[in-house]
Amino acid sequence: MITAVKGTRDLVPPETRVWNAVETVAREVFFLYGHDEIRTPVIEPAELFIRSVGEASDIVHKEMYTFEDRGGRAICLRPENTAGVARAYIERQMAQTGGVKKLYYIGPQFRYERPQKGRYREFRQIGAEIVGASDPASDAELIIMLFDFLSRLGFSGLTTSLNSVGTDACRGSFIEALVDYFAPHKERLGPDDQRRLAQNPLRVLDSKDPAVAPLVASAPRMLDVLDADSRSHHEELLKMLDEAGVPYRIEPRLVRGLDYYTRTVFEVTASGLGAQDAIVGGGRYDRLISDLGGPRTPGIGFAIGEDRLVDVVPDGFRKKALSGRLPVAIIPLAPGDRGPALSLSRSLRAAGIPADVITAGKGPGTGLKAAEKKSLRIAVLLGEDERREGTAVVKDLTARTQEKVALEGIVRYLQTMEGHP
Ligand code: AMP
Repeated sequence: MITAVKGTRDLVPPETRVWNAVETVAREVFFLYGHDEIRTPVIEPAELFIRSVGEASDIVHKEMYTFEDRGGRAICLRPENTAGVARAYIERQMAQTGGVKKLYYIGPQFRYERPQKGRYREFRQIGAEIVGASDPASDAELIIMLFDFLSRLGFSGLTTSLNSVGTDACRGSFIEALVDYFAPHKERLGPDDQRRLAQNPLRVLDSKDPAVAPLVASAPRMLDVLDADSRSHHEELLKMLDEAGVPYRIEPRLVRGLDYYTRTVFEVTASGLGAQDAIVGGGRYDRLISDLGGPRTPGIGFAIGEDRLVDVVPDGFRKKALSGRLPVAIIPLAPGDRGPALSLSRSLRAAGIPADVITAGKGPGTGLKAAEKKSLRIAVLLGEDERREGTAVVKDLTARTQEKVALEGIVRYLQTMEGHP
């Protein structure tokens, strides 16, 4: 038997209904905020992520699916989507059409991580970006949109963790202070954190090692050494979030795992997910586009882990998504009834009633069993007698009642039956 690649999974019905419902709400809400969809390739040049997400990040260092294609190019399955959006923004000269670009994407991302609950090697993200705006009002608007989306899914009580990682202006001296702070405790750091300390000291603050947690807790705080502009950006953002009633918590150690962030970084976590509890990560990336060779263009975005989101989406939303209309089973009893069954199914669909023709074999028993297995609630049986009379037998499979109905009135009859208004 050939099985799915480790860390990947099939999304199958009826669960795919929940995914679709979530995506529909995302599209509706993002549209309300002026965002349009962008779809970038799943494969990108490996260099794109090395120069954006960063050589020393965990993603580039050990999680990327990189391969050489037949033309000798170093290709990556994208591990995230912001770098691809930035590449497209530059390549398609979106800056020239002026103003601010508000975009969103929905799609699969790939990281070679150790699979566990809520962590996959192929996972999906729903993300949004505002490119070309540096004002804290755009940070606020993006976070407000995120909370609008989450509350329309029925979430309540979620809080965003917020921090500022400043800019190059203040980061250099902060990193020196961090290195000075951690250096005497080097032996307490595991190999991963030692590598981070050498290559990318900020990331030690993001250590998942419980032995390092107390050290991190009393490490220097970026918030204490922000340059004046970053500080006022941060404070203005907080004021706007207060005014909008968006709940947040300042998290001075939040740094996030991607190198391109400047100033605002944020994360939303949800309970019920265990260790992998972050459902959203985001931040400002004022240097990303110029680092990739584009014009100096600020930006901010977030990415929602759709797999985790669907896992914890409130029950009400899930039930509603799953309780969608079911098709009416149309069961021809003999081969001669198949033509009439097809034509009846077309009349039903034309009237907006979903129909599923079941040619399961001989006799009414097999077809009905198949319909019940699919949890269908209404069946229409077409047999020889009915063909002669121009009727059909409509069965309510839940109530176990049945009635003979004239074919010309059957659409109306089905429309008035429960569940099919
Ligand atoms: P990041 O792109 O690392 O900022 O991640 C943004 C969000 O994507 C996280 O908060 C998770 O919800 C989700 N995510 C990241 N990696 C994975 C993974 N391996 N499996 C499932 N979800 C993930």
